[in-house]
Amino acid sequence: MRVAIVGAGPAGFFLAERLLARAEPAVGVDMYERLPAPHGLVRFGVAPDHEKIKSVTRSFDAVASRPGFRYFGNIEFGGDVTLRDLVRHYHAVCFTTGAQTDRRMGIPGEDLARSHSATEFVAWYNGHPRFRDLEFDLSVERVAVVGVGNVAVDVARMLCRTPEELARTDVADYALEALRASRVREVWLLGRRGPAQAAFTTPEVRELGELEGCDVRALPDEVALDPLSRAELERSADRTLRRKVELLQGFAERAPTGRPKLLTLRFLVSPVALEGDAAGRVCGMTLVRNALEADRSGALRAVATGRTERLPVELVFRSVGYRGVPLPDVPFDEKTGTIPNAAGRVLSPATHDPLPGLYVAGWIKRGPSGVIGTNKPDAAETADAMVADFEAGLLPAPAEPDPAAIERLLRERQPCLITFDDWKMLDRIESERGQANGRPRVKMTEAEIMAKLGCA
Ligand code: NAP
Repeated sequence: MRVAIVGAGPAGFFLAERLLARAEPAVGVDMYERLPAPHGLVRFGVAPDHEKIKSVTRSFDAVASRPGFRYFGNIEFGGDVTLRDLVRHYHAVCFTTGAQTDRRMGIPGEDLARSHSATEFVAWYNGHPRFRDLEFDLSVERVAVVGVGNVAVDVARMLCRTPEELARTDVADYALEALRASRVREVWLLGRRGPAQAAFTTPEVRELGELEGCDVRALPDEVALDPLSRAELERSADRTLRRKVELLQGFAERAPTGRPKLLTLRFLVSPVALEGDAAGRVCGMTLVRNALEADRSGALRAVATGRTERLPVELVFRSVGYRGVPLPDVPFDEKTGTIPNAAGRVLSPATHDPLPGLYVAGWIKRGPSGVIGTNKPDAAETADAMVADFEAGLLPAPAEPDPAAIERLLRERQPCLITFDDWKMLDRIESERGQANGRPRVKMTEAEIMAKLGCA
């Protein structure tokens, strides 16, 4: 069976791993990636100071070294290669393109200068080639990060780290310089519901309390649980949730220690508008205080009380969730930002029946939730559906059976196709540069990569 995987992030590699681990049927996997470097959000999303999480790439390397695996980097789906091409050359095509954009808050002032999405900032500090030229005004002192998920925590932590802490990471060089010169002193993390409903996880909260150059605090009346949350917590068997609430309540009891920066976690507040100055830049935010109410299903949701306050922030990052983007010629559900599917089989929007040979895995399948490891069972479900369909004779043999043919076609269209051996050479250079500087790696720019490969 010949399979094309579009997107070289964790879901793509977990899918390839599951397929290549099988003795029968023998599977050939070609992985397509529009960027030169593989690993998706592990390289361009995971925070630079979370180096351990990135060690998962060692298992991706093991997958890539298995017979039957090929990597076609610097190939854009919908441009260099189309769905028609892939259907002609493979029994199955699987989309693992993740969630490449962000959700919006839908409030006045959201598009002012100095109002950004967290996804852009994350991609920028991680050296993503399509985001490296963005500019963030770090000459301001007060910043709000809207949302209390793990991405919001990453952004707040990156803003609060000292230059010395950052210099030990693989943060992009230009971002390191910008963050070194940053004048940001106060950061607010804004949660619309209470501490017991916050999406961030307990280890991430603990880490916020251990920053070298930043005091952390929460407001006592906002971390005290309301009766509905208390009842929810008492019913819950989740001990880490209790620990998380305790940690947040502990932040409210801390006295400032005079560290240069201050991070304040706020709960039960929603931004309702961003104010702009004469130059059209954010110069403040109006917040409304919320109360919690149970909806019909019993879930607690935030309801505005009408009491408002002003936060004097000059830079805003909205971190209210990622969102998938449609792919050319592939069905897409605008409401969920995902490809409609049943257990990984792509469904026709018209008939809701599976479209033979088309599959999906990862965030573009289920939405932007879970940690990297969550993609493993998700990809396994899709891989197993694919194999079952192949064994049931539902996947016709491709019109072009020669595996060499697609590589010839790709090289004609994109002479600078990047193979996994090319990537390993680049990876070695980045690691060696890192070693020489006491860092895990020093990331190369796209221009440097192309020059090294003789493609400039
Ligand atoms: P997330 O976990 O879904 O969090 C989104 C946050 O935005 C929630 O606090 C949500 O509040 C809030 N929100 C949504 N709409 C809002 C609005 N209109 N106004 C105010 N707040 C709003 O998403 P994420 O932080 O982007 O993370 C995505 C996934 O990646 C998560 O599964 C996360 O755990 C994972 N991740 C993990 C790590 C790690 O392991 N270290 C790091 C980064 C990301 P409500 O709950 O009230 O909706």
